[in-house]
Amino acid sequence: MCSRKGCRSGAQWQLLWNNPRIHTPERRKVWLSCGDHREWLEDYLQTRSLWKETVPFTESEASANEAG
Ligand SMILES: [Zn+2]
Repeated sequence: MCSRKGCRSGAQWQLLWNNPRIHTPERRKVWLSCGDHREWLEDYLQTRSLWKETVPFTESEASANEAG
C-alpha cells in the first residue's frame, strides 16, 4: 500500500531513506509508493536530504518490510 496519506493504491516502488540525525548511516527506512505518488514522495525526502534510493517493489519483499 502506498505511504502517501489518503492513498489506497497498491505499492509499485520502495523509497529507501535515512535520517542521519536519528539513524545510523547504514539504516534504511522504507516508504512504499504507487506510480502516481513516487515523484511526490521522492521530492519530499530529497528536500529534507533523507532520500537514498528508489527501487521497484515486488510482492515477495512485502513480508520483509519493516513496520513504521
Ligand atoms: Zn499513492
